[in-house]
Amino acid sequence: MAKTLGFIADRIAASGYATEVVARERLSESLVRLIVRCPAFAGAEITPGAATSWRVSRADFRHYTPAVIDGDALSVIIALHGSGEGERLLLGLQPGDELTVLKWAVKRSFAWQDGDRPIVVVGDGTVISLAMQFERRIGDSGRGFRAVLEVPEADREAVHALVRGAETVARTGTPGAGLDAYLASATFTGDEIFYLAGHGQSIQRQRDLLRSRFGIDRKAVRTQPFWADGKVGL
Ligand SMILES: Cc1cc2nc3c(=O)[nH]c(=O)nc-3n(C[C@H](O)[C@H](O)[C@H](O)COP(=O)(O)OP(=O)(O)OC[C@H]3O[C@@H](n4cnc5c(N)ncnc54)[C@H](O)[C@@H]3O)c2cc1C
Repeated sequence: MAKTLGFIADRIAASGYATEVVARERLSESLVRLIVRCPAFAGAEITPGAATSWRVSRADFRHYTPAVIDGDALSVIIALHGSGEGERLLLGLQPGDELTVLKWAVKRSFAWQDGDRPIVVVGDGTVISLAMQFERRIGDSGRGFRAVLEVPEADREAVHALVRGAETVARTGTPGAGLDAYLASATFTGDEIFYLAGHGQSIQRQRDLLRSRFGIDRKAVRTQPFWADGKVGL
């Protein structure tokens, strides 16, 4: 949900977590870690694939991915892209500010799947939090995990510090072009479950590539666009 009526937005926000901003840290040229805290977060869990949202203006919400809960603190990694109400709000947040974070939920078609099939997460800077969710959940279980993330060159080091198993690809002018090339020459066992997220138009190309080039079954490719060319919020 990006836009709704103001009074409906009030009701939606009333059901969220009232949090306090602890920190807004610039991790690299375009990556920001937002940390908020709320007593209700202590003991809360994040199922991989879960997303939350918060209000960015009277009637607008933007979705983000809860990456890590540590005690009563929740972290989210956000990729700056240069415009938008969500980015404007983020860059104005200061420690001590209030931010209502809506309860997180997983879309059924994008849900975490128990089992031992390896997981591959593919996306851009908006997908780092998602990759962190999966990596933490898989932990030392021995289940295979790969995160292929396309970010500007200046952000690659920060991504490796956040996602241990990340394979980073430098972003060039066209979103997703680096990922297309990387995936085309990658090797897969065929047993993986793929989670493609981030730029909508890139996801479509990558899903087609995985199916046509590697014969990956349709059901093994889960997709969730996080943003799309010319669209405000998603
Ligand atoms: C389920 C879900 C989870 C998400 N999790 C995260 C997350 O953890 N971290 C994160 O950074 N983002 C995440 N996003 C993406 C984020 O919600 C969008 O990037 C959103 O558009 C940002 O809002 P905005 O107000 O800054 O820009 P908008 O006002 O929505 O968009 C303004 C313009 O910028 C373009 N745009 C939007 N995002 C990008 C981008 N990343 N790169 C280039 N152009 C862009 C739009 O096409 C539009 O033209 C998630 C989205 C969804 C749906």
